[in-house]
Amino acid sequence: MTGLEDLPIRDDLRGLTPYGAPQLDVPVRLNTNENSYPLPEPVVEAIGKALAAELRDLNRYPDRDAVALRADLAGYLGHGLTVEQVWAANGSNEIQQQLLQAFGGPGRSALGFVPAYSMHPLLALGTGTRWVPARRGVDFGLTADEAVAQVREHRPDVVFLCSPNNPTGTALDPTVVAAVLDAAPGMVVVDEAYAEFARPGTVSALAVLPGHPRLVVTRTMSKAFGFAGGRLGYLAADAAVVRAVQLVRLPYHLSALTQAAARAALAHRDALLGTVSAIMGERDRIVATLRARGLRVADSDANFVLFETGGDQATAWRALLDQGVLVRDVGLPGWLRVTAGTPAETDAFLAAMETLR
Ligand code: PMP
Repeated sequence: MTGLEDLPIRDDLRGLTPYGAPQLDVPVRLNTNENSYPLPEPVVEAIGKALAAELRDLNRYPDRDAVALRADLAGYLGHGLTVEQVWAANGSNEIQQQLLQAFGGPGRSALGFVPAYSMHPLLALGTGTRWVPARRGVDFGLTADEAVAQVREHRPDVVFLCSPNNPTGTALDPTVVAAVLDAAPGMVVVDEAYAEFARPGTVSALAVLPGHPRLVVTRTMSKAFGFAGGRLGYLAADAAVVRAVQLVRLPYHLSALTQAAARAALAHRDALLGTVSAIMGERDRIVATLRARGLRVADSDANFVLFETGGDQATAWRALLDQGVLVRDVGLPGWLRVTAGTPAETDAFLAAMETLR
């Protein structure tokens, strides 16, 4: 069999393995921060109708600029945003890749505060952007001073902030975003994939967009909307940023089926987002229960929880899996991440955790 090493592959890709969590067929899958609830039947029917209406015209390319979908997304976000300030793609992963294609690339750098979303460095790698892993403070926190000092030191072309942060779950204080925006010489991307799960009082960077053309907020329908399989991510920014990513996007990158399904899902946003408060309740139950058992747990504004296992995390991961509960080992010694799903999934996870001790 031909090996990768037999191909003239790029030197910086040699020896690497593809990104991705294990997709294992176990009863309780809490490792990729999906929404555990299937779509409600009326929404399934509405999406089915919307898709059916597109089928006859699949001989034609879709709307290249996805204008109707972007208008719907702008309406969902509010904050006075218009269609010109919103852009959509196949997941926020693709959005962030397009941002790096436009603002990063060879000879340029992107900085993130690790541990954060592990795709950020991989998107940098794929786009030939030099990655700068900046540090977080005590207990994975990040203060404005810590962030600004490292941005000043490295002067990156792109800064990634992740709020709520994956894998810690904690949202950033808005003063950190403001300070980084002030200090950064280039673009500042705030990845808000989990924004809908934030605790009351959390402020979205969307509020800071006016007057800040170098700020980009990325969002996704994969989490709160339960639309991970539909692949729809988006950004909000100055209209000039949207024009910049239009220089690098593939023509017709969003299929007619994706656009139609996402619009139907957005039209039923109340039904889809109806699971958010229940998931937040399960998240808070996981945090409170593990803390009551004496484990350290990060504050969570997301649909997942980072917790200390009280021992080697790889051993704990395996022990949980042996009981049919799949969680995520993000490579932090002594810590694991679990997605908050249904009450039954929380019960199964907490029961499995009892047996670790
Ligand atoms: N950002 C963060 C912080 C994430 O955790 C994820 C999903 N794991 C994404 C972006 C990408 O999600 P998607 O491409 O499905 O929008």
